[in-house]
Amino acid sequence: MFQILAATKNKHKVEEYKELLAGKDVEISSLLEFPDCPDIEEDGSTFEENARKKALAASDSTEMPAFADDSGLEVAALNGEPGVKSARYAGKNASNEERIAKLLENMKGKEDRRARFVCVIAVANNGEIIETFRGEVSGKITEAPRGTNGFGYDPVFMPDGYDKTFGELSSEIKNKISHRAKAAREAIDYIETELSTIEDFDL
Ligand code: IMP
Repeated sequence: MFQILAATKNKHKVEEYKELLAGKDVEISSLLEFPDCPDIEEDGSTFEENARKKALAASDSTEMPAFADDSGLEVAALNGEPGVKSARYAGKNASNEERIAKLLENMKGKEDRRARFVCVIAVANNGEIIETFRGEVSGKITEAPRGTNGFGYDPVFMPDGYDKTFGELSSEIKNKISHRAKAAREAIDYIETELSTIEDFDL
């Protein structure tokens, strides 16, 4: 069993990662247990840049192997927005409801409702980025929010092949098909097979 730090203070993401890692030979902690670890500004222009920056900072300040994700929603009719700005689309302190309201307002009258969630995970150890992984899930933006599960834009995102939004689907289903699940599965396979053989990785 080896330990790895999820470089996030987002409770929902920590829960998703814990579910995804259940049954694996990995013990996960998070920045919720390191409240003094400074918040990293996500000022990169790509998901990759932000994920790398967060993983490196967390690994440096905790001296643990760490992984960080950066994720967001890309909407075709909005030229990929909100993209890397998903969390602050309606201003820094806006609520999920306000972000969703802004998105639906900008989507008014648009016939092309295609969108995708993207997640990039970077894995860092000993002050170095070791690898990055990308996961995507394609779907459509609904006309109105539906469901209360999940977080963020989940109530307005309907994944392809389903007639329910992520807000209505169970966490079991979301955790099988989501962008974060796909990137995490690849990262976890890599961590299990490659990194656990590196001596100083196994703390
Ligand atoms: P970050 O990855 O912490 O920078 O946050 C990205 C933002 O994208 C979140 O605050 C959400 O608004 C949105 N987002 C990322 N992943 C999801 C998801 O699985 N469901 C809904 N919204 C998401």
